Amino acid sequence: MSADRDGRDLEAELASAAAGQIGIPVDAICVGCGRTRVKRANLEEIGQHPQADPISLEATDCTSFKHVCYRCGSATWWNPVAVLTGLLEREQERGVASRDDTPRDRGPVEVA
Ligand SMILES: [Zn+2]
Repeated sequence: MSADRDGRDLEAELASAAAGQIGIPVDAICVGCGRTRVKRANLEEIGQHPQADPISLEATDCTSFKHVCYRCGSATWWNPVAVLTGLLEREQERGVASRDDTPRDRGPVEVA
């Protein structure tokens, strides 16, 4: 899979609680300790219109956003270095609302 970057598993980082629950996946660098982690950021948090298409976003257009850093032990500022459109597209295919992999019922149950 192409989700790996520098030996990191970006998908696993995104799935972890540390990434947050809401927003688009971005690779971001903590201004406190300088480590890079996948975080979820709201479009508004990163200076974008809430209706903007995240797929076409450039990380250079995004502003810093506040997020908790577990190494710093507090909420810090993070600078987006990349919008993870690959992970984003995969998520959109699955449906953003269903974060689990449980198969959904498809329509009404047919009674024979
Ligand atoms: Zn930090």
